[in-house]
Amino acid sequence: MYQANDKRYEKMVYNRVGKSGLKLSALGLGLWHNFGSVDSFENQKAIIHQAFDLGITYFDLANNYGPVPGSAEKNFGQIMAGDMKPYRDEMIIASKAGYEMWDGPYGDWGSKKSIIASANQSLTRLGLDYVDIFYSHRPDPETPVEETALALDQLVKQGKALYVGISNYNGQQTEAITKIFNDLHTPFVIHQPRYNMFDRTIEKDLFPVLRKEGKAAVSFSSLSQGLLTDKYLHGIPENSRAAKSTSPFLHPLQVEETIKTVQHLNEVAKKRGQTLAEMALAWNLREPEIACVLVGASRPQQLLDNAKALDNLTFSSEELAEIDQILGN
Ligand code: NDP
Repeated sequence: MYQANDKRYEKMVYNRVGKSGLKLSALGLGLWHNFGSVDSFENQKAIIHQAFDLGITYFDLANNYGPVPGSAEKNFGQIMAGDMKPYRDEMIIASKAGYEMWDGPYGDWGSKKSIIASANQSLTRLGLDYVDIFYSHRPDPETPVEETALALDQLVKQGKALYVGISNYNGQQTEAITKIFNDLHTPFVIHQPRYNMFDRTIEKDLFPVLRKEGKAAVSFSSLSQGLLTDKYLHGIPENSRAAKSTSPFLHPLQVEETIKTVQHLNEVAKKRGQTLAEMALAWNLREPEIACVLVGASRPQQLLDNAKALDNLTFSSEELAEIDQILGN
C-alpha cells in the first residue's frame, strides 16, 4: 500500500491563483499522454505517487485524454479509488470539455448540452463527486459565450466543480467571458494557455488581460512536449514522444528544425547549473501570471528531474537577454 512521503510539502512552492483563495503547486502533472488504455497501469501509478511525493497537488485531465478517449480519467479514477483515496482533499483534480469526445452534435465544443453531459461522464469515469476545476477546453465560435459560461456556472451550483477555468481562449475572448462570470459570481479563477520558450504568443495578448482581471494561468506544453529538454540533443531517441507520436504537435521534422536553438539554450542552462528542462520550467515561472507549469511525464524520474527547477527560479537580466537573443525575440 502506498504511503505518501511525509516531507512532501517541504520543498514545493505553492502559488496563489490570481486574486482567488486557491493555491497551486508550482509544478502540475498533465495526463494527456502516458495514461491511456495503451499505457502500463503500474507506470501510471508510479508517476502519480512520485508527483504527490514531490508536493505536486495539481493533476490535469480532460474528457478525451487517452488513447482511447476517456481512458486517462478511468485509469486516474482507479488510482483515486485505491491508494490515493486518503489524499483526495490534498489534491486539485481538473478536467475539461470542448474537444471532440463522442459522435454527433453534442460530443464536442461548448454548448450547455455538451458541457454538462461531458462533465457528468467525467465524474463517472473518475469515480468522484466533484472536480476541483472544470475547464472549457476551447472557445466555441458558434455557441454564444453566455451559454458556455452558464453551463460552467451550473456545474459549480450543482456542486460538481469548485472552480472553473478556460483554456485556449485569446485575450479578447477571455475578457468577454470574464464579464459574464463576474455578473454570475462564478468562481472563474484560471486560464490554461500554451506557453513555452518556443511559443510566446500569450505574452502580448493574454497576460495583460489576466493582470487586469486578477486571474492566473497554468501553462501547458511548458517543455514543448519534450523539445525543451536534453532528450533530443543528439537526435530522436527510440523511446521518445517524437519517435512514437503521430501528433501534429511534435513531428520529427519540428525536432530537426529546432535542434540548433535547443543546443544553444542548453548551454545557457549549463551555465546556470541547470538542465534545459529545469531552466525551461523556471523561465515560465518567472512570469507572475503563471501560477503553475504543467508537465507531462513518461516515467517518474522525469518528475524528480523537473522538480529541481525550483532550486533556481531567478534569472539575471543578462540571462534573459541571452535567451531572447537565441530565440530571436
Ligand atoms: P510537456 O511540454 O510537459 O512535455 C511532456 C513530455 O516531455 C513528456 O511526456 C516526456 O516525453 C518529456 N519530458 C518531460 N520531462 C522530461 C525530462 N526531465 N527529461 C526528458 N524528457 C522529459 O507537454 P505536454 O504537451 O504533455 O503538456 C503537459 C500537460 O498539459 C498535458 O498532459 C495536459 O494535461 C496539458 N495540455 C493541455 C492542453 C490544452 O489544450 N489545454 C494541450 C496540451 C497539453 P517522452 O514521452 O518523450 O519521455
